[in-house]
Amino acid sequence: MSDHLTLDQLGEQSFAIRHIGPDEAQVATMLRAVGHDSLDALMAAAVPAGIRQELPLDLGAARTEAEVAAELAALAARNRPLEPMIGLGYHGTLTPPVIRRNVLEDPSWYTAYTPYQPEISQGRLEALLNFQTMVADLTGLPTANASLLDEGTAAAEAMTLVRRARPKAAGPFVVDADALPQTIEVVRTRAAAMGIEVVVADLAEGLPDGEVCGALLQYPGASGRILDPRGLAEDVADRGGLLVVAADLLALTLLESPGELGADVVVGSTQRFGVPLFYGGPHAAFMAVAQGLERHLPGRLVGVSVDNAGHQAYRLALQTREQHIRRDRATSNICTAQVLLAVTAAMYAVYHGPEGLKAIAQRTHRCAAVLAAALQESDVEVVHGAFFDTVLARVPGRAEAVVAAAREAGAHLRLVDADHVGVSCSERTDLDVVASVLGAFGVSAAELPEIDGRTPDALPTELLRRTAYLDHPVFNTHRSETAMLRYLRRLSARDYALDRGMIPLGSCTMKLNATTEMEPISLPGFADLHPFAPAEDAAGYRELVTQLEGWLATVTGYDQVSIQPNAGSQGELAGLMAIRGYHRARGEGARTVCLIPSSAHGTNAASAVMAGMRVVVVKATDEGAVDLDDLRAQCETHRDDLAAIMVTYPSTHGVYEDGITELCRIVHEAGGQVYVDGANLNALLGYAKPGEFGGDVSHLNLHKTFCIPHGGGGPGVGPVAVREHLAAYLPSHPVHPDADRREGIGPISAAPYGSAGILPISWAYLRLMGGAGLTRATAVAVLAANYVAVRLREAFPVLYTGHNGLVAHECILDLRGLTKATGVSVDDVAKRLIDYGFHAPTMSFPVAGTLMVEPTESEDLAELDRFCDAMVAIRAEIDRVAAGEWTPEESPLRGAPHTAEAALSGTLGYDAMLAAFPAGADPDKYWPPVGRIDQAYGDRNLFCACPPVEEFAAG
Ligand SMILES: *Cc1c(COP(=O)(O)O)cnc(C)c1O
Repeated sequence: MSDHLTLDQLGEQSFAIRHIGPDEAQVATMLRAVGHDSLDALMAAAVPAGIRQELPLDLGAARTEAEVAAELAALAARNRPLEPMIGLGYHGTLTPPVIRRNVLEDPSWYTAYTPYQPEISQGRLEALLNFQTMVADLTGLPTANASLLDEGTAAAEAMTLVRRARPKAAGPFVVDADALPQTIEVVRTRAAAMGIEVVVADLAEGLPDGEVCGALLQYPGASGRILDPRGLAEDVADRGGLLVVAADLLALTLLESPGELGADVVVGSTQRFGVPLFYGGPHAAFMAVAQGLERHLPGRLVGVSVDNAGHQAYRLALQTREQHIRRDRATSNICTAQVLLAVTAAMYAVYHGPEGLKAIAQRTHRCAAVLAAALQESDVEVVHGAFFDTVLARVPGRAEAVVAAAREAGAHLRLVDADHVGVSCSERTDLDVVASVLGAFGVSAAELPEIDGRTPDALPTELLRRTAYLDHPVFNTHRSETAMLRYLRRLSARDYALDRGMIPLGSCTMKLNATTEMEPISLPGFADLHPFAPAEDAAGYRELVTQLEGWLATVTGYDQVSIQPNAGSQGELAGLMAIRGYHRARGEGARTVCLIPSSAHGTNAASAVMAGMRVVVVKATDEGAVDLDDLRAQCETHRDDLAAIMVTYPSTHGVYEDGITELCRIVHEAGGQVYVDGANLNALLGYAKPGEFGGDVSHLNLHKTFCIPHGGGGPGVGPVAVREHLAAYLPSHPVHPDADRREGIGPISAAPYGSAGILPISWAYLRLMGGAGLTRATAVAVLAANYVAVRLREAFPVLYTGHNGLVAHECILDLRGLTKATGVSVDDVAKRLIDYGFHAPTMSFPVAGTLMVEPTESEDLAELDRFCDAMVAIRAEIDRVAAGEWTPEESPLRGAPHTAEAALSGTLGYDAMLAAFPAGADPDKYWPPVGRIDQAYGDRNLFCACPPVEEFAAG
């Protein structure tokens, strides 16, 4: 008899019990409530037998948090981030530690959701307004969005904006031959799908003859050359087109703004404003437009409005969720953007201010000027006389040797061709770096300080900046770290994120973003690598990506995965492009019809249009399922031109539809491909694989199912997974580290691995959970949704259920009856939830007048009950309206959310305690910083930059 347990018997701490909220006892309680004996029994009852996978997930055993941290550190150590001087839109930068730790690494920023509930998102909305103001000022155009996915896709969006805004302009879209090479390729991929003609030309020679719908100029160019945009702007305008300028924001602190010089649209990346290189992303791109074009802007636009007390308040303007409303007429398919990175870049400008940014730009330029002068003094030819940060050196026949020597000396340079080397300086460059680069050219660096003293600037004098920028107080106040820390804290304290409580957003899967998953992204091996560094210096990333793509293929049942798309919307486009490529290769290019059920996510229709397809809507039955009779009829009508169907599974109604296998059969028989939108994979992992039950292609959302945080509206990763016959049509990239992936349909993102820097998060999640942990997570997610449905069905009818009366991982609460009877709307319920300390569920998607609740596996029973209790209490409040005790207008439901000021005002027609503490006094109460915001006011009075300070004082 032993008096102790052995190490083996003690076992190891499993991560799954940290990730999954409810413990065994809580799971048992919840199972009793939903009437099933075990998780197995629940899942057997919920998931249609026809789609169940037979074998457990084969991912190997789960690892501990300590093991995964060590594995990722080892992978990071196999990357060699040298001094990043390749340029091409990616530059060395120094993330101020106060911003790194208190934004990028702070859950109050990174676990927030997209600010659709503006009253509880004022902090990030202010940060994004700072971003828009910064971009508008520097580009010299009045309206900027916040944000786009990367510079390449921003340029492609600009091209489609030109087509929308100038429908009558004929002729090609002309792209500068000195544009970033990856931008040219992303634009080509998009243009091919939409049938837009693209011509690449040296714009130093002027526009090609004939009609032109628009042109894109890189300012400064990839080679470092700086063309004056003025003549081009006039020429494009004369031909009825629009000029797009892709600009470098840091350069714009010294060079005149493109807006001032005639540009209609300016795009670019804000990476070098303090955002780590991350081997290509995530980074926030931007777009700014001239007056008159704002209603064509893709992506999100933050605007200023007022709340119910007349105080100024921020919210998303104009095209809020516009894909959901405009669908195939949307301006673009962008949904998830790059909010966390936009906040980081904006804060970099807030911290440095206009003088600080200018000094950084001047130092960067000095290094380049000294480098160029030293090369020339040693008879190395420098191609351009004027430049900002990039020196193009001509070294006939020696370029490869110079780049190799620089690599030995610790710097990555750009190998342009056999005779040319590009060297881009950055905030990180100093004279020591310049000296080692000179060494690689075989040039002595003995007298650099003297050269610095006698070498004039090499900026083009006719383009020196004369217009002011960033004069708003926000960019001129927070200079000390103390001030900055408090500003960051003040903003994040205004917001409700997962660090405060549950965010039960249907379709968005707001689950735990574990610290062990997050920490590795800051390791220098992952954070500081340039995306075009030689493959040998990125061995850790390659292994991580290969494994992650392999695991994602395993869990989805597909044959090949590409992690290149940097949001779900981009995964959709990539998947549809694969279908397009497949049909065309078989001589069936006429297949261009894309069937989409009426309940689909809005991005689906928008992506189909971007892939050059025509959207045809398939009806739903009264039970919310795809109407198979209508589907058969549509397939018959489109027998010759059917390209695909896009279905979400489980459906956006939160139900496992039985008809899915039959649906796949019908579409395949008609010659179409089946696209399964995999955003709802959290209900499938371990139980069913789309690649096995009939899908040909899916995208996944790593920022939903696989734990990448939403970051307040991005970053995301939207891998595309395909069966073998579509594998040849996955995204390629001209400088892909894997030589087999260089040729193909072209890139969907600017970098070969898209948002590579956040892939360690999902890698860690899969490794920490193992197959059994993932499977249990799915079952608990389904259990939690059913538990909420059961607890709330008396108060609010559950709109759709499937098998045995069960829902999948989310449920839709139908408020339409109550609204009709009492005048209390979904908005009122959503805002009242704030008073109870919750973020609202998804509102009015996919059905208007409803709330869609997705609790996820990460919320424990206490939090689930707190939410259900709040909803039941709100129902009781609605009943008081129904009973005539309050009119809807004068009820606490319409008055919600209540600020402290409102509660203390003495003007409420009901008890102040009921207003502010409806669930009882609470020392940890979250107080919304503003009251109910007037959406219409903000759209009528569109204002999208930082408001003058006096307006706040007056408010
Ligand atoms: C979230 C979501 C998308 C879009 O993903 P983004 O990353 O936001 O572009 C597409 N389809 C469904 C069903 C989704 O829930």
